[in-house]
Amino acid sequence: MRYYSTGRTAPEATLSQAVRNGLAPDGGLYMPERIDRLPDSFYEDIAGMAFNEIAFAVADAFFGDDIPEDELRRIVDETLAFDTPLVKVEDGIYSLELFHGPTMAFKDVGGRFMARILSWIISRDGHGPGKVTVLVATSGDTGSAVANGFLGVDGVDVTVLYPSGKVSDIQEKQFATLGRNITTLEVDGSFDDCQRLVKSAFMDEELRSRLTLTSANSINVARFLPQAFYYFNAYAQARRMGLRDDIVFSVPSGNFGNLAAGLIAAEMGLPVGHFIAANNVNDVFLEYLQTGIYRPRTSVRTIANAMDVGDPSNFARILDLYGDSVEAIRRDISGCHYTDYEIRDAVRSVHSSTGYLLDPHGACAYMGLKDYLQPGRTGIFLETAHPAKFKDTIEDILGMEIGIPERLRAFLDAPKLSVKISGAYQDFKDYLLARLK
Ligand SMILES: *Cc1c(COP(=O)(O)O)cnc(C)c1O
Repeated sequence: MRYYSTGRTAPEATLSQAVRNGLAPDGGLYMPERIDRLPDSFYEDIAGMAFNEIAFAVADAFFGDDIPEDELRRIVDETLAFDTPLVKVEDGIYSLELFHGPTMAFKDVGGRFMARILSWIISRDGHGPGKVTVLVATSGDTGSAVANGFLGVDGVDVTVLYPSGKVSDIQEKQFATLGRNITTLEVDGSFDDCQRLVKSAFMDEELRSRLTLTSANSINVARFLPQAFYYFNAYAQARRMGLRDDIVFSVPSGNFGNLAAGLIAAEMGLPVGHFIAANNVNDVFLEYLQTGIYRPRTSVRTIANAMDVGDPSNFARILDLYGDSVEAIRRDISGCHYTDYEIRDAVRSVHSSTGYLLDPHGACAYMGLKDYLQPGRTGIFLETAHPAKFKDTIEDILGMEIGIPERLRAFLDAPKLSVKISGAYQDFKDYLLARLK
């Protein structure tokens, strides 16, 4: 399989090049040259298939040319060491719980898959100078999913940069306590400073001649494509529950990687009635649907902070899938936006009427279904994180304590191993080079 850039000026890439580059040299995002429809027999059998079998069929359509079957099966099986159950919340509305992985957020799927693909590529092709070092700047959730995904993976070191004092305790503990091949740098600065350090490293010729640097953010095809897996798994479960085919999927969206993966699943023939892109007040996509004009802007802070994105990187993939036609996009995707006040209200009222606890991101997607669904139709919202990851916010909303799952508590008890650095690039560079010795 070849990968082209949505910028359309960079040369096509092999899987190995696309995964190592992350972003294409023309600034575009890589897309697979073909999105094959899965055979009718797959859709006939899907209700009786296990998640890893379903996911293998999807993975095989993209990676089967490049990765031997037994290796790809192992990568899929190891990635999906947890399920994505479909849970009924109320009549016609179901939650697809994507938070049963090690860091309790959906990013575990992409993070774990990418780690294994990269490791496989390195073992086949060898690597460039030095060790392979994955650099990630994080404002919270990405760092933990990537770090845990790569923990103990041979041949790869991960360096996570995060702004000191600006991530929650739980988030920090999820990546800063791991050790082994994971290093965490607590930067005296903002998230933007962390991102600037990473970008400077990628542009530093001297550093690149001594280390093989790569990035693991959501633009990477190896993180993006496996997110299609759980849309199929949702459908299989819906079929087993006897639900109708024209399901509406509501996706809490920030960088729009999750939603774009759903569009890929639909391209592969998955029956989907409609998609809803649920946003907090950072709603450039909704504005685009309404006006046909895309106007990126600076994001504002909300209580659904993983969706505080003002210029979603995967928007380029959505445009590409629809040949830049806003009319075509509107036929398949609706938008909506919710204020912090509305999010709080939804968390509170769903908890009191059904007992189900939403996280702030899932709450946006839940409201998207409530506002869109006609009677008699079925909607699934993606629950992208466990509510306990936002413990303080949720406890403040409900006015009561919520428990912390054992998996999160284990992180909280471990000692923090971060190294403090200033926001100056030279300090960061010295640190990376010192580790080579
Ligand atoms: C990252 C994240 C999102 C946004 O996902 P995108 O793929 O960037 O749209 C939503 N919810 C949670 C909990 C997240 O961590």
